Amino acid sequence: MGYQFVKSAAAFAEAKEYIPGGVNSPVRSFRGVGGTPPFIARAAGSRLYDIDGNEYIDYVGSWGPMILGHAHPAVTAALQKAVLQGTSYGAPTLLETELAQLIRLAFPSMELVRMVNSGTEATMSVLRLARAYTKRSRIVKFVGCYHGHHDSLLVKAGSGAATLGVPDSPGVPASVAGGTISVPYNDADTLAQVFAQYGEDIAAVIIEPVAGNMGLVPPCEGYLQKVRDITSSYGALLIFDEVMCGFRVAYGGAQALFGIKPDLTCLGKVIGGGLPVGAYGGRRDIMEHIAPAGPVYQAGTLSGNPLAMSAGIATLRTLTADPDMYRKLTGKTAALAVGLRNQAERYGLSLQFHQLGSMFGLFFTDQPVYDYDSATTADTEAFAVYFHTMLENGIYLAPSQFEAGFMSAAHSEADIAATIAASAKAFAKVAER
Ligand code: PMP
Repeated sequence: MGYQFVKSAAAFAEAKEYIPGGVNSPVRSFRGVGGTPPFIARAAGSRLYDIDGNEYIDYVGSWGPMILGHAHPAVTAALQKAVLQGTSYGAPTLLETELAQLIRLAFPSMELVRMVNSGTEATMSVLRLARAYTKRSRIVKFVGCYHGHHDSLLVKAGSGAATLGVPDSPGVPASVAGGTISVPYNDADTLAQVFAQYGEDIAAVIIEPVAGNMGLVPPCEGYLQKVRDITSSYGALLIFDEVMCGFRVAYGGAQALFGIKPDLTCLGKVIGGGLPVGAYGGRRDIMEHIAPAGPVYQAGTLSGNPLAMSAGIATLRTLTADPDMYRKLTGKTAALAVGLRNQAERYGLSLQFHQLGSMFGLFFTDQPVYDYDSATTADTEAFAVYFHTMLENGIYLAPSQFEAGFMSAAHSEADIAATIAASAKAFAKVAER
């Protein structure tokens, strides 16, 4: 189709003069797949438009938030109304209670909700609360789950099945990373062993109940219930990080889908409708430890910002206005996943396809993928060929093998058909290698 990236290449070079690596979040630089990231000029519905005039069907959706599609009229109208009334007051508004009510309706386990400005802030704050409430210090996380970039969770596993975390970035103190224990996802036995050894000192287990940060990896049958049982029996808190899967795998997130009640939940992405928002919440008796109700300090100049609240409210109200919304989202995503799988098979590729609600992913491996180690059997070079061919055929996917794809309400059947048609070219190129 003759996609060119001339202006984006120049913009990227100039951006690097002013911004580290030219981007404000690393994955945007295409470091996983090479090449030039298109610089985006605008977006509408299912489409992104870059500064070279290229048009894409977008399955990144700003990494999850844009579940209604871009510039949805209800969200845009809410923002236009809000902006005329002032952009920030640093004082309470009715909007904050309204969004908290909507969140609690969707996630009844979140009896009290505190708004913050990002998913990172939500997980950072929730760990402080968990440590304060339990008067314990250790945290357990799962290898391949991402919860944001603060020190306690920016850890990777050392060698061995269950290990004290080691920093995943220079600048993370080893003493902080060491307080986090890393275990494999979908492996309840190793988690039980960790609790047998450290149980009395574990404040909380934090998990993406549907993992989206090693590619899309759903929990195995019964796994989340086991995690719930183990944490309960040791008096540790269970934290569901539903920043990505909340309002995605179901309106009420993974906890509604699998019928598991965590003690605390983190949200982000969809609840901000594309503006910077995160939230954490959970059991009232725990959440009442947060200042000013309790002694655990956590604050924010822009927390509960009226523009962000307005976009979030409009998004959640639009999602619930159509009783068929989630059936349609899931149906379209499943149709896409099946279409992609059929094309891959046509070219003799045996890949792994995952889909849950409006999230999907494929792995360039013939091995089943259920945790980080199995995900990393994927051939990232094959993914890069697939990714660039899709991009040059107008399909914008996350530029990494280890990220999920997101469907929106704005994607049409024609979009999905075009995506499947483009995938035939992309899989053909992969098969040719
Ligand atoms: N938790 C999960 C599950 C996420 O996917 C992300 C971001 N992708 C975060 C936390 C961090 O959110 P943010 O980028 O808004 O800080």
